[in-house]
Amino acid sequence: MNTLQSDSEHLSFPKAAYIHVPFCHTRCPYCSFTVVADRLDLVDRYVQAITRELSTLDSPNPVNTIFIGGGTPTLLPREPMVQLFSEIRRWLPLADDGEWSIEANPQDIDPTLCQLLRDQGINRISLGGQSFDSAKLKMLGRDHTGDQLTRSIDIASQWFDEVSVDLIFGVPGEDMQVWRSDLRTATSRGVSHLSTYGLTYEKGAHYWSQLQKGQIMAVAEEVELEMYLFAIETLTQHGMNHYEVSNFAKPGSECIHNQTYWHGDSWLGFGPGAAAYVGGTRTVNHRSTLKYLQRIETGLSPIAESQTLDWSTRTRERFIFGMRQLKGVDWSTIVNVGEPEAIEAIAQQIPKHIELGFLEWHDGHIRLTPQGLPISDSLWLDYW
Ligand code: SF4
Repeated sequence: MNTLQSDSEHLSFPKAAYIHVPFCHTRCPYCSFTVVADRLDLVDRYVQAITRELSTLDSPNPVNTIFIGGGTPTLLPREPMVQLFSEIRRWLPLADDGEWSIEANPQDIDPTLCQLLRDQGINRISLGGQSFDSAKLKMLGRDHTGDQLTRSIDIASQWFDEVSVDLIFGVPGEDMQVWRSDLRTATSRGVSHLSTYGLTYEKGAHYWSQLQKGQIMAVAEEVELEMYLFAIETLTQHGMNHYEVSNFAKPGSECIHNQTYWHGDSWLGFGPGAAAYVGGTRTVNHRSTLKYLQRIETGLSPIAESQTLDWSTRTRERFIFGMRQLKGVDWSTIVNVGEPEAIEAIAQQIPKHIELGFLEWHDGHIRLTPQGLPISDSLWLDYW
């Protein structure tokens, strides 16, 4: 078998699509995503631009997963929202058993919206909850309360089998008591999926400059580690499968779309700041929403960056991204599709990390151990 060809061919037929909706009420102080705050006046231009970008596909591209992320997609007024969904269905027909996720703000969730989303074909809802603690939510600059999050979970669960909630830990001023309470509430609501992220200070976010000026204090590293380990212990005790560094799911409720990224497979991306990976080439659209709109409106490509990955880089990425999964990487898959010298280089590093207790072999997979999990990011430099 010509492995180079099999890898490239596989990457030429994306079965996943991401659509970025950049609108938010306000910008949260920790956020550095591609977002425009309080600019709903741009919505009609945005929907037209996405329609034009989708039409560059020339013919419909059937997919297994669609993920509408943001920003706050549920902030869209109903008419343009339905128009957007209808264009997505036209250009990205979803497989019968496909997964269609949307990110939602807890404050926007009500039965009417849930009915609309479900009627449009969406079958998975991801709530940007972050916390049930109102003081922590205030610190995060969120516009919902803990009670509103609880209510939104209860409403969404009546309409969707798959309800995911994002939780953040390590927020300035937060202690173990607050985090324990967040996890207790999340598990008591019976959500099917939880993503837990330690707060990061990204350049460009308000929190980053506040940290530099000493106006806020980051939670100590050892406390953050304790919070992470406590989440693993609590959520697995509640029957959730810890399937990726930051993600937990009831068995069978793992997010299929995100596995595209961890498997090193290709995906389509639309909207400001959206990345795509097709045929071994990674592209990123202009991050400024206005620039994205202007370029599309004047017939120009929205792509700001493009990088074609060679076979060796694809192999290393497939390994490193795959290792984020707790089941690890199926070594036979890497050997089947990978570039021989890159595989050799990876194989040379593994014994050292096994000896240190960070990696282990299990059932043909190389995977992180519980000791390797909290420090995993620092291991991957050795595999580039
Ligand atoms: S964190 Fe979410 S809701 Fe807040 S500004 Fe960023 S994308 Fe919008």
